[in-house]
Amino acid sequence: MATAEYDDVSKVFDSGNEDVVAVEGLDISIEEGEFLVLVGPSGCGKSTTLRLLAGLETVTDGEVRIAGEVVNDEKPKDRDIAMVFQNYALYPHKTVRENMSFGLEMTTDLSTDEIADRVTEAAEMLGISDLLERKPGALSGGQQQRVALGRAIVREPAVFLMDEPLSNLDAKLRTQMRTELQQLHDRLGVATVYVTHDQTEAMTMGDRIAVLDGGELQQLGTPLECYHEPTNRFVAGFIGSPSMNFLDLEYDPTDRLGVTDGVEYRFTETQADVLGPGPRAITLGIRPEAVELAAESGPDTVTATVSVVEPMGSESVLHLDVAGTTMTASVSGDLAVTSGDRIRLRFPRDRVHAFDADGGGAIF
Ligand code: ATP
Repeated sequence: MATAEYDDVSKVFDSGNEDVVAVEGLDISIEEGEFLVLVGPSGCGKSTTLRLLAGLETVTDGEVRIAGEVVNDEKPKDRDIAMVFQNYALYPHKTVRENMSFGLEMTTDLSTDEIADRVTEAAEMLGISDLLERKPGALSGGQQQRVALGRAIVREPAVFLMDEPLSNLDAKLRTQMRTELQQLHDRLGVATVYVTHDQTEAMTMGDRIAVLDGGELQQLGTPLECYHEPTNRFVAGFIGSPSMNFLDLEYDPTDRLGVTDGVEYRFTETQADVLGPGPRAITLGIRPEAVELAAESGPDTVTATVSVVEPMGSESVLHLDVAGTTMTASVSGDLAVTSGDRIRLRFPRDRVHAFDADGGGAIF
C-alpha cells in the first residue's frame, strides 16, 4: 500500500477577482520509505502540493490519502505527518529540548519519560545532544535546522514533509546537510516528500522526482529517467546543469535532414522512422556534456562561433553561437579555444533528443 497518495487532486485559490489554479489533476503515489522530491520553478505549485498533504490547504477536487485513509477533511495535527519548514519555525523562548518535545506533549498521550527518551534519541542521531538546554537564538543556522528536523523525527510520523529545508544555509553547509538528510532517511526509512526549486538537490536526493510546471505534473520518475528520457522540452531544460541546448529545425524527411541557417543535421534511419513521413518543425535537444569537438565535418556536425570560454578547472564551459542560437558545451579544460574561434561540433546521434516544436512533447 502506498504511504500517501494524491488522486486527481486540484487546488484553486480564489484570490478576489480571479481564480488561481495552483495544482491541477495531480496523481502521485508515494511508496513506503521513498524519498520523493517535488521540483519546479517558482510558482509551479510545489508548496501548495506539499501543504495539501499536510492539511495546511484544503483540496478543491480529488482525494488525498495517507496510509490508505482519505484525509481531505482531517486537521494537520490529526494527519500522521511531520513537517519541516524553510524558516525552521522554532519557538524562540523555548529551549531546544522544549522545542522538540512540545508537539508531542500537545498532541499525544505519551508519558513524560517516553517523550524524554525520544528527544534524547533524536538529539543523538542529529549530533545536537549538547545543545538541548540552549535557546534557538544561540544556535547557528545549521544547528537550528537540525532542531527542526529533530522536532519532526520525535513524532515518528508516516511521512516527513519538507519545504525547502536547506535554502537558508550557505552552499557548503547545504551540501553537507543534503548528505546528512539522506543518511537520516536511510536510517529511519520513513517516506519523505521534499520540496525544492533546485534541480541539483532533486537529482542527488530523490529516489524519484516529480517535475511540476504550471500546477501540472510534467514527469514522475527516477532522476536518471528524467535526465535521459525527459517527457517534454520543459523537463529536458529544467533537469541537468548547465541546461540542455535547443535548436529549432525544419525536418525534411527526403534526406532525413534537420535544417536551419547553415545547419544540416542528418538523423539516423531509426530516428527518421520515429519522426514520421512528413516535413515538420522540431526542436533538437543536446546536453552540453554530450557536445563533442569534431576534427572534420560530417552528417552529425555543425559549425559554431565561440563567444565566451568559462574555465572551471578540469573542464571549460564554452558559450557558442550556432546559427544564431546560443548554446553551451562542457569540454576538457585543456582544450585550446578562445572567443572568436570558429569550431566544428559533433552532436552524437545517440545523444540527441527531438521535441515537437508546437507542444514540446518528446519525439525521441
Ligand atoms: P515558490 O518556489 O516560489 O515557493 P511554488 O512552486 O511553491 O513557488 P506555490 O506557492 O505552490 O508555488 O504557488 C502556486 C500558485 O498558487 C502561484 O501562482 C501562487 O501565486 C498561487 N498561490 C499560492 N498560495 C496562494 C493563496 N493563498 N492565494 C492565492 N494564490 C495562491
